[in-house]
Amino acid sequence: MPDRYAVIGNPIAHSKSPAIHAAFARQTQQDIIYEALLAPLDGFDAVVTSFHLNGGRGVNVTVPFKEQAFRYVNDLTERARVAQAVNTIKFDGDRVLGDNTDGVGLTRDIVHNLAFPLERRRILLLGAGGAARGVLGPLIAARPAEVVIANRTAARAAQLARVFSSHGPVRGGGYEEIGYARFDLVINATSASLDNALPPLPPDIFAPGALAYDMMYGKGLTPFLAFAEAQGAARLADGLGMLVEQAAEAFFLWRGVRPQTAPVIETLRKA
Ligand code: NDP
Repeated sequence: MPDRYAVIGNPIAHSKSPAIHAAFARQTQQDIIYEALLAPLDGFDAVVTSFHLNGGRGVNVTVPFKEQAFRYVNDLTERARVAQAVNTIKFDGDRVLGDNTDGVGLTRDIVHNLAFPLERRRILLLGAGGAARGVLGPLIAARPAEVVIANRTAARAAQLARVFSSHGPVRGGGYEEIGYARFDLVINATSASLDNALPPLPPDIFAPGALAYDMMYGKGLTPFLAFAEAQGAARLADGLGMLVEQAAEAFFLWRGVRPQTAPVIETLRKA
């Protein structure tokens, strides 16, 4: 009998997670089934509980349920506790463990796949929502020179910076507070690309050799990446590698086996 896993979200039909985990399972010869479950906006807890009672071993959680998942679990990894959001749940007897693999997914994609070390870099993080919160801990842990958070609602960025101030050098505010600074890495963790919109960025923010990273994937040259290209950013990347890396970390938590991500990223890019 294969072990059952699922991704839960709303909407969920276009999720790439079932294809990614099926590829990991084939590669590592793990006997699992991985489904996509649509939960009503007010029905997350009921869908997870039913899946668990029917033999489910773990779930991934996506938009808009990561904060509900944080409240649902009865145990947390340190990185999920810091992020206050859960994207991976492991059922282990009475223990319902919540983890957050988004941050390690992002840093692994940037540092290993894109070969862009983070130590001593100046990083500009756009957005102060769930994704930004999830990646801040691992970003600061990579020992950059500084992380600046810029957000449309300035108070949210300032608040996020306060929460992480004991982790390392970080400050936050509105876009107008970016000033004339230049950054080695600019990460778009806003959902602006979903609406084909561009955060209100000042010009000349990219330092020589800079990487522009949009967490959005599957949208080609987003307004943010087009802006970065026009402004002379040396390298552009979308969030597909992050998606596969966060999935690999979840797979490792569940199965104790770490799949190879490069062939899976390559297959998804071709598709
Ligand atoms: P949230 O809804 O929690 O946060 C949205 C953020 O975007 C807020 O900071 C909001 O600002 C800002 N924002 C929205 N529209 C605009 C705009 N037009 N201009 C400027 N800022 C804007 O979303 P998440 O943090 O969960 O997700 C953010 C993005 O990251 C999504 O596109 C998601 O697909 C992507 N993502 C990708 C992952 C991957 O594996 N590649 C993993 C997780 C997320 P304000 O606070 O002012 O409202």
